[in-house]
Amino acid sequence: MPELPEVEALRDFLTENAVGREIVRVLPVAISVLKTYDPPVTALEGREVTAVRRYGKFLDLATGDGPHLVTHLARAGWLQWKDPLPDGPPRPGKGPLALRVALDTGAGFDLTEAGTQKRLAVYVVRDPSEVPGVARLGPDPLADDFDQGRLAELLAGQRRQIKGALRDQSLIAGVGNAYSDEILHAARMSPFKPCASLTPEEIGRLHEALRTTLTEAVERSRGLAAGRLKAEKKSGLRVHGRTGEPCPVCGDTIREVSFSDSSLQYCPTCQTGGKPLADRRLSRLLK
Ligand SMILES: [Zn+2]
Repeated sequence: MPELPEVEALRDFLTENAVGREIVRVLPVAISVLKTYDPPVTALEGREVTAVRRYGKFLDLATGDGPHLVTHLARAGWLQWKDPLPDGPPRPGKGPLALRVALDTGAGFDLTEAGTQKRLAVYVVRDPSEVPGVARLGPDPLADDFDQGRLAELLAGQRRQIKGALRDQSLIAGVGNAYSDEILHAARMSPFKPCASLTPEEIGRLHEALRTTLTEAVERSRGLAAGRLKAEKKSGLRVHGRTGEPCPVCGDTIREVSFSDSSLQYCPTCQTGGKPLADRRLSRLLK
């Protein structure tokens, strides 16, 4: 799933390749990808892309005083830049293509989504704040004013564990399952640590890890073509998705905890005092 660093890199890429170009066609291909009907997608056609912005994991193409095309790529969605776009209309219902945007240069992009769970969402709105997910977003962790005090404030009222809090878009915008694993590993902190138990020293460490991890990932991704971002994200991750591999910091074996629809990875030596966390699914299987 693209998270803040990848969406930021897509924003850079589209700023370079789409700003100043006219949108010729917007073609929703997958059923239900389009979440709005007023203004219609055709209102984008003939408009020039004037800016590309990011809100959390949302990407926003602005067209001057015209409508915005806002998209959330969700878990299995991606943006594929095509120069040129293939001739002929795409066939609906076949393959992962969800929506196609054609520009006046003959280039354009496809929004694609793998798998059967269709969550990729596109909104055509007069203002990005009309998108409920955008309106609900918490502060951006890379914003200049996102300092340690701000993080302490955000976590102060939380009664849950730090892993869940980091992923909550209404608390902090842009961090998902992969980067929350990375941030907690960098902060040497258990994913199950209750927010309320964090000392000022730990909040300082978490803040440092949050900013460093995301900034480094943005730097790695910046300037890469859209098609190379997925591989770059994967290669840059130290613990997420690396169950059974050695921790790059201490060499201990990276472990995982599974949930019904996701899993988290961590290093016991770096994060939990060497103790493996309980994995409910695994312990059920062993009973
Ligand atoms: Zn380690």
